[in-house]
This record gives sequence, C-alpha cells and structure tokens, in this order.
Amino acid sequence: MTSENEDSLRMIRETVKEFARKELIPLSTRIDEEDFFPVELFRKLGSLGFLGITVPEKYGGSGLGYDAQAVVQEELGYASASFALSYGAHSNLVVDSLYRNGSEHIRESFLPGLSSGEMIASLCLTEPGSGSDALAMKTEARRSGDHFVLNGSKTLITNAPYADLMLVYARTGDSYTAFVVLNSDKGVSKGKKFSKMGMRGSPTGEIYFDNVELPEDRVLGKYGNGKNIILSGLNAERVILSFIFIGLSRNALEVALKYAIERKQFGKSISEFELIEEKLANMYTRYEASKLLCEKALKAIQLDRMNAIDSAASILFTAESAEYIAREALQIHGGYGYVKDSGVERLLRDAILGQIGAGTTEIRKHLVASNLVKSFMKDKSIPR
Ligand SMILES: Cc1cc2nc3c(=O)[nH]c(=O)nc-3n(C[C@H](O)[C@H](O)[C@H](O)COP(=O)(O)OP(=O)(O)OC[C@H]3O[C@@H](n4cnc5c(N)ncnc54)[C@H](O)[C@@H]3O)c2cc1C
Repeated sequence: MTSENEDSLRMIRETVKEFARKELIPLSTRIDEEDFFPVELFRKLGSLGFLGITVPEKYGGSGLGYDAQAVVQEELGYASASFALSYGAHSNLVVDSLYRNGSEHIRESFLPGLSSGEMIASLCLTEPGSGSDALAMKTEARRSGDHFVLNGSKTLITNAPYADLMLVYARTGDSYTAFVVLNSDKGVSKGKKFSKMGMRGSPTGEIYFDNVELPEDRVLGKYGNGKNIILSGLNAERVILSFIFIGLSRNALEVALKYAIERKQFGKSISEFELIEEKLANMYTRYEASKLLCEKALKAIQLDRMNAIDSAASILFTAESAEYIAREALQIHGGYGYVKDSGVERLLRDAILGQIGAGTTEIRKHLVASNLVKSFMKDKSIPR
C-alpha cells in the first residue's frame, strides 16, 4: 500500500467519524427503539462520495477500492451497525456489482443515481423456500419475444421497503441470470417490513414479481452467468460486511473498558479483578485477530474474487468474535448492561445478525473446510 493511499484512507476514516459523531450517533438509539431508517441521512452518504465508493468518477462514483469501502463500513458499524448494514447492501452488494458486471447501458443508466443517493438498492437472492441453498430458488424469468417475464418472490431483503432498484437473481431454464429490476416496473410489489430483534432501523422486507416484463438490456452480465455473479459477489460481500462487526466490536470493547475502570466494587475498580481482566484480554485478542484476518481477506479478494476460503473465514471468525465481545461487554456492565439505557444490549442484538446474514456460520464453516480439502488434495499444502 502506498503512503498516498494510506493518507486517503485516513482522510476517509476521519470524514466518516465526523459524520457519525455529528449526525448518526445522536440518532442511534432512536434508530433502534423506533425501528427508524433515517433515509435522508442515508442519501447524504451519496454527497460524501460513499454510496458509489468503488465506482469510477465517470459514472458518478469516487473511484476508490474495497479498502476504502471497508473503512466506511467499519466506522459506520461502530456508530450504528444497522445503518452500516443498509449501506453495505446498497453500496457493495448492488452498486459495486452493477459496475463490475454491468453493460455500458446499465452503468450509465443507474450508477449515477445510485451513487448520489437519489436511488436506493437491494440485492434479492433469498426466497421463502431457499436461503442457504440459494440455488434452489424458484423465481424464474422466461424469454418471451424480445424480453423476459419475471415471476417469483424474495424475502428477508435489506432495504426492500425503500428500494428503487433491485438486483434480482432468477432461474433461467437450467441456468441462473441476474436482472436489474426497478420498483416502477409493472408487476413489482412490496410485502411486509419485518420487525427484528436487532439491526433495527435497517429495513428488511419482502418483494414480489408478478409477470414483470424486462427488456434484454436489464440482464446483468451475460445471460446464464448468474451463478458466477452470485458466488463472486458473495465472497466480496462477506469480507466487506465483516468490517461492520469489527466496528461493532471496537465499540463494545471501548464501553466495556470505560465501565470496568469506573465501576467500583469491594473497594476497587472491577477492572482489577482477575476474572474481568480475563474477559478484557480475550475481547481485545479476538478483536485484533479479527482485524488481521479481515485485512488479509481484503487483500486476497482484490486479487481473486473467487477466493472463498479467506472471505468465509474472515466473516466466520469476526462475527463469532463480535457476538462474544458484545456478550462479555454486557456481562462487565452487570445489571446495568441488561437495561436498554446502557446501549450495550443493542450491540449484542445487532452482533447476532453477523452469524446469519451473508450466509450462516454453518455454511461458512462448510465453505472453509470443503475448499481447504479441495485445495490440499491438489497442492498438498495449505493455501497462503
Ligand atoms: C437482517 C437480515 C438481512 C438480510 N438481508 C438479505 C439481503 O439483503 N438479500 C438477501 O438475498 N438475503 C438477505 N438475508 C437473508 C440471509 O442471507 C439468510 O437468512 C441466510 O442466508 C440463511 O438462510 P435462511 O434464513 O433461509 O436459513 P436456512 O438456510 O433455512 O438455515 C436454517 C439453519 O440451518 C442451517 N443449515 C442450512 N443448511 C445447512 C448445511 N448444509 N449444513 C449445516 N447447517 C445448515 C443454517 O446454518 C441455519 O442454522 C437477510 C437476513 C437477515 C436476517
């Protein structure tokens, strides 16, 4: 990494921190308690250059890399994990994919609006009958003359209630194809918004497609190439979303340290008790190990977007660690930690999503182990 790049990442971090301190953190309790999505604040991320951060300037983006996107995710994750989740779904899962896989027509038509915040996006893969087994999807698109007809439904979709544009995966005969679908397309409708235990304020909902007619130029990438777009997209998504949980872990560790130092029992600070020291030491070690793993995965994914081992391993460990760190932070706060005012129980509820969204912990373990076995059988060594 050049020092010029380091300077630019430092500036981005400072800008997000300032934005978070002034505008997001003051809203974070309301976001959680009222399940409130601050849509205008979200659009403001566009004027800061963050929504299209990996998109070249000629399409309205900032022309930066995944390392810059990871910095934004981490700092938003520190302030409000749910706001960060909505940001990741928009800017990585959809906007980055549209740039990487889209035709000139798709890039020119949609990236400027998505980068400015005029449009909000959702990625639609999960269905009522297919989650981990995503390729068992039932949504299908059939050719009819010079267009496609899309039918089916998607569920548990981040940003769905607000989405103007959806990146939708559908079965096309024996293959899969990714399509760009607009909320304004006839036959698109939205279902209910889910009330969730955590990540409240990041709106999650259902979307239905009833004979939606899509012109040929809404195919993302090549017809029949949807499986590759899904797999490469999921790898990048896992690494980028991991950074939300690094930010969340840092927040939990900081509030735990502050409380442990201030709280006195038996005539001394509870931070002096060996059992509390053990917690703080384990929390710090897991937080630092998560960062190293994610930074390695970030470099790996920039070289090879099909790198499933590093991307799955990074979010596997980071998400488990975030839940552990948030749980220990709550324990260090004693009874007060169980009270909403402390803000610590929100961190734990938000952290739990880390083991479910972007593929579950179980699927990540399978991905790491099965790819490791394949690679070892071929090379007789562990991939570096
Ligand atoms: C807040 C939130 C936001 C989301 N946002 C999006 C989004 O924007 N877009 C989108 O497309 N999806 C989204 N999802 C869906 C998410 O990706 C799925 O929930 C996830 O992939 C798991 O699928 P499932 O819920 O159907 O669980 P299932 O696949 O039914 O799994 C149920 C349980 O079985 C286990 N299991 C399944 N298969 C195996 C196996 N082979 N081996 C061992 N265990 C297994 C799972 O690990 C899990 O514990 C979101 C979900 C949530 C909660």
